[in-house]
Amino acid sequence: MITRRRAFLQENIIIAASEAQSHRDARVPSTWQQQLTHAIRDPQILCERLGLSRDWLAVARIGHDLFDVCVPEAYLTRIAHADINDPLLRQVMPLGDEALTPQGYVVDPLEEADHRPAKGLIHKYAGRVLLIASPNCAINCRYCFRRHFPYSDNSPSRAQWQEALDYLRSDTTLHEAILSGGDPLAANDRQLAWLVEQLESIAHLKRLRIHTRLPVVIPDRVDDALLGWLTSTRLQTVVVLHINHANEIDQAVVDACARLKRAGATLLNQSVLLRGINDDVATLAALSERLFEAAILPYYLHVLDPVQGAAHFDVPDDEARDLVAALRDHLPGFLMPRLVREIPGKGSKTPL
Ligand SMILES: *Cc1c(COP(=O)(O)O)cnc(C)c1O
Ligand code: SF4
Repeated sequence: MITRRRAFLQENIIIAASEAQSHRDARVPSTWQQQLTHAIRDPQILCERLGLSRDWLAVARIGHDLFDVCVPEAYLTRIAHADINDPLLRQVMPLGDEALTPQGYVVDPLEEADHRPAKGLIHKYAGRVLLIASPNCAINCRYCFRRHFPYSDNSPSRAQWQEALDYLRSDTTLHEAILSGGDPLAANDRQLAWLVEQLESIAHLKRLRIHTRLPVVIPDRVDDALLGWLTSTRLQTVVVLHINHANEIDQAVVDACARLKRAGATLLNQSVLLRGINDDVATLAALSERLFEAAILPYYLHVLDPVQGAAHFDVPDDEARDLVAALRDHLPGFLMPRLVREIPGKGSKTPL
């Protein structure tokens, strides 16, 4: 997988070089694609840019060899300088701890390999299916349960989507299609517009849900091309963002959310409870408050999936329950996320 990622990367660097050339003189503002292409993908540059010592570079290299660094500039600007404990840095900074292999932490913690009726499609829950619309992400989150995901087997081409679309057409109990990934918004808008057109032609589908971190990582992703297909679909649209800390929501993110909202989308957020990042009441309360300022409602607070390489982020269930109970004393009910775990084989997320 790492080799494949590298190949993808090299391709991008070549595109980047030619794009940089053609845009240098024009002085046009960077598109989201250019920002993605120029994301920091080298632990040394990450450490230098943030003023971290060479000792940190040595451990960063260990984590990077297991799962590549990827941090776009727009996200980097929200990270404090020379602070290894910055809650945004901790989400993207590779560490030596990722090489630990404690018992119970596995490569496919959700056993998704067992629920694929067609290429690019995961059907676990009644009434809704998940489509892997893009294998790529705009950022590599160190705790991600997909860090070992065999994406090359699950990023279908247009022709290969037919099998998934046939499955959706034939099952009239389905009412919602969820675009996921990777990050579905890492796909280009031509492809996404085509896919949404196919989906809306299926009469029993009512809702289109998009699980994405891109509007947070690169707010310019919410551009006219995206808003075009999002606004024009007959399907009701829900965008589930992924934000773990209030500091992730700067003005550009607030503006991007306002554009999504104007396009008719309902905005929800899912977070992961992460040791050293958001595992205290004040931080979680501030996150909910800030989400609402951006017109987003908290949806899920996930406990960590036991994926190999992420054990150092784990918060035990009892502590998670206590935290959420204490949070209830600080927030109105509508700003309370639901604390859940994903248990393989269950028909929904499991409340804790
Ligand atoms: C999480 C998930 C969903 C969505 O679950 P909701 O509870 O509706 O948010 C759907 N399909 C799969 C495979 C999932 O993992
Ligand atoms: S954006 Fe989502 S899928 Fe991609 S690395 Fe981060 S958590 Fe994982």
